[in-house]
Amino acid sequence: MNIPFLDLKAQYKNIQKEIDKKILDVVKTQRFIMGPEVEALEKEMASYCGSGSAVGVSSGSDALLVSLMALGVGRDDEVITTPFTFFATAGTVARLGAKPVFCDIQRNTFNLDPKKLESLLESQRSKNSQSRIRAIIPVHLYGQCAEMDTLSSLAKDFQLKIIEDAAQAVGAEYSMRGEIKKAGSLGDLGILSFFPSKNLGGYGDGGMVLTDDKELASQIRLLRVHGSENKYHYKFVGGNFRLDSLQAAVLRVKLKYLDGWLEMKKEKASHYKKLFWESGLPQKGLIQCPSAVYRNGKVNHYHTYHQYVIRAQRRDELKKYLKEKGISTAVYYPRPLHLQECFAYLGYREGDFPESEKASSEVLALPVYPELSSKQQEYIVSRVKEFYR
Ligand SMILES: *Cc1c(COP(=O)(O)O)cnc(C)c1O
Repeated sequence: MNIPFLDLKAQYKNIQKEIDKKILDVVKTQRFIMGPEVEALEKEMASYCGSGSAVGVSSGSDALLVSLMALGVGRDDEVITTPFTFFATAGTVARLGAKPVFCDIQRNTFNLDPKKLESLLESQRSKNSQSRIRAIIPVHLYGQCAEMDTLSSLAKDFQLKIIEDAAQAVGAEYSMRGEIKKAGSLGDLGILSFFPSKNLGGYGDGGMVLTDDKELASQIRLLRVHGSENKYHYKFVGGNFRLDSLQAAVLRVKLKYLDGWLEMKKEKASHYKKLFWESGLPQKGLIQCPSAVYRNGKVNHYHTYHQYVIRAQRRDELKKYLKEKGISTAVYYPRPLHLQECFAYLGYREGDFPESEKASSEVLALPVYPELSSKQQEYIVSRVKEFYR
């Protein structure tokens, strides 16, 4: 049996008529940059995420970049984030001349550990009164929110801004002091990515910034078009961070299906959990299923399973074995950011963030998408069981 890691062709097939029509409609207008489709998508996304404003931009990475720019983060400033994330989370900080400061993750969620963050902030405060830390970027890795209530209180105490990296978590819900909110609407700013493989993926690059702060939103709208308020008059130096009409048109079609798809992914996840439990592997400590820690009666999408990530003993051998059996898997991420060559100047060493390092050597993402069949899931789990026999 051949099981691709992600099957976007199958998804397209199911919505082809609608998508094709929308794409042709845009082509007929010959209006490709920004325009009414982008404006409509912004309104729909703001409403879906429960956010005051949404600004469509060129990618998730650029969404991080303009968010940091709008907060005025620059040379010699510091921004805290996790080393166990996609490169852009910290790369954008470095691009602005600021310094990424890493903080380790929790073992069960793979997300920023509030306790470790607190001691990091305390130790910085006691070391120097003139802290240059400006913001925290919690990442909602694999589709589950970080512990946002605790992180928000800490940000408040230390007067820091929060930019949520919700690139993997569109649609994820979190109960913030009793109020159920969506990923991206929990911090001062939130970013989404529409990279094709994300839960809400376009047919190319795209991203979005969410915020309730009107001033930040209008500043980001200017940064997106080179900082110009009136054509050829520039208030500050921005860039070309625009979203295409074609992407917006595709995303507007797909947004209508998003909740249904998330629901189906959740079903796939619980099927995996059941199958793995029956295999006896978790009980023997050979693999570990992902834990959805904010699961409770009121929160529906407590985990959106952007990725279904297990921890596995002898991970690399297992990955190779599954490949031989026709099953494609992926490792997000094989090397934490504090050990990347480009960040050597930051002076971190192996052992600095043991949970991130451990995760890097154990995580394995299995295929999880609405079109994945139960039979395919059963095949995958059987092969994993076979490997450990
Ligand atoms: C995908 C991703 C990004 C960047 O998004 P792009 O649209 O690919 O630029 C940022 N952060 C995380 C955690 C991501 O997974």
